[in-house]
Amino acid sequence: MKPDAANALIHLDYEPPPGFAAPQVGVFKASTVLFKDVAAMRARDWRSKAGYTYGLHGTPTTFTLEERIAALEGGRHCLLVPSGLAAIALVDQALLAPGDEILLPANVYGPSRELARTELARFGVTHRLYDPLDAATFAAMLGERTKLVWLEAAGSVTMEFPDLRGLVAAAQRRGVTTALDNTWGAGLAFDAFALAIQVVVQALTKFPSGGGDVLMGSVTTRDDALHERLKLAHMHLGLGVAGNDAEAVLRSLPSLPLRYRAHDQTARELAQWLQGRPEVARVLHPALPSCPGHEHWRALCTDAAGLFSVLFDERYAQAQVDRFVDALRLFGIGYSWAGPRSLAVPYDLKAMRPGGPLRGHLVRFSIGLEEAVALRADMEQALRAAFT
Ligand SMILES: *Cc1c(COP(=O)(O)O)cnc(C)c1O
Repeated sequence: MKPDAANALIHLDYEPPPGFAAPQVGVFKASTVLFKDVAAMRARDWRSKAGYTYGLHGTPTTFTLEERIAALEGGRHCLLVPSGLAAIALVDQALLAPGDEILLPANVYGPSRELARTELARFGVTHRLYDPLDAATFAAMLGERTKLVWLEAAGSVTMEFPDLRGLVAAAQRRGVTTALDNTWGAGLAFDAFALAIQVVVQALTKFPSGGGDVLMGSVTTRDDALHERLKLAHMHLGLGVAGNDAEAVLRSLPSLPLRYRAHDQTARELAQWLQGRPEVARVLHPALPSCPGHEHWRALCTDAAGLFSVLFDERYAQAQVDRFVDALRLFGIGYSWAGPRSLAVPYDLKAMRPGGPLRGHLVRFSIGLEEAVALRADMEQALRAAFT
């Protein structure tokens, strides 16, 4: 090998060109961040965004995304993590200690409940489920040990829209920290911080990415002390995201409001049409009066994401409902939502909402960016195939 071949390939003198400007953000990828000298290394504080310390603690690309998500949510600080579920786990880990209790809405994102039931329980943190529509009963559940309340609007799968104002007011009176899973609202449908919610989490995997090709989560706060606790835990747990993933989300963010509205419009059209179908007992879409909590949605929002569920009449067999989902051609069968492709998933209602008042066979639809008329024709042929 030629002498110095390796050196020449590794020691390139590269500085981003100072005269270069473009609307799009550069993708910076690094584990190592170089310091000018030892004094600069010693002087650098990893907690400060004034400089860079190590790739895990941020690059210009991830700092930019953090700032944009903080602006989207109306917060001041944001931390990025590798998934929406990791964002929930970070909040739990940072804010809870053995002996504490957390309260989760009965319609909470399933894996958040599983996290509480398994990992948190092992560390001596207990949880109870509350009815998100009943703020009075919720208020009575808040006790000495309650240290964190999770909120979700609308709830996963069963779509009830909670009495957010009532729940937050009750938690505030007891000085209990409130955290919202804002994946459905995407920072657009309502202003969580204006409601005095303290921690706002989002699965950037969903609307902010919009492509169905990135997994990422965010934890946004306004309060400096709360952010400091979350930031320390983020560091201790070794959480961080990749530059290419951050860039993919940055690229999708400008079209977020347009996409959100498009998903919403098509979803509402289909939800309303399904309400008139004889096979359907109930449509669960927060913007429809048939959805529990509709009045809370109406008091807070005009927009409504692209997500809804349908309860097929109890007289049908589960096999028929499965046949309906299998017969859909434009809808993929798969988890997640807010990507370009429409998706459908049958859920076991009893497992999703134990003891709840809803009856029937539930199918959750995530409406993508296809033409409404084509999706409706697809649903129509699948209904015919399965139920006649
Ligand atoms: C998808 C989702 C999450 C988790 O996001 P991942 O990135 O898939 O881990 C959390 N909360 C809600 C409401 C979600 O829909």
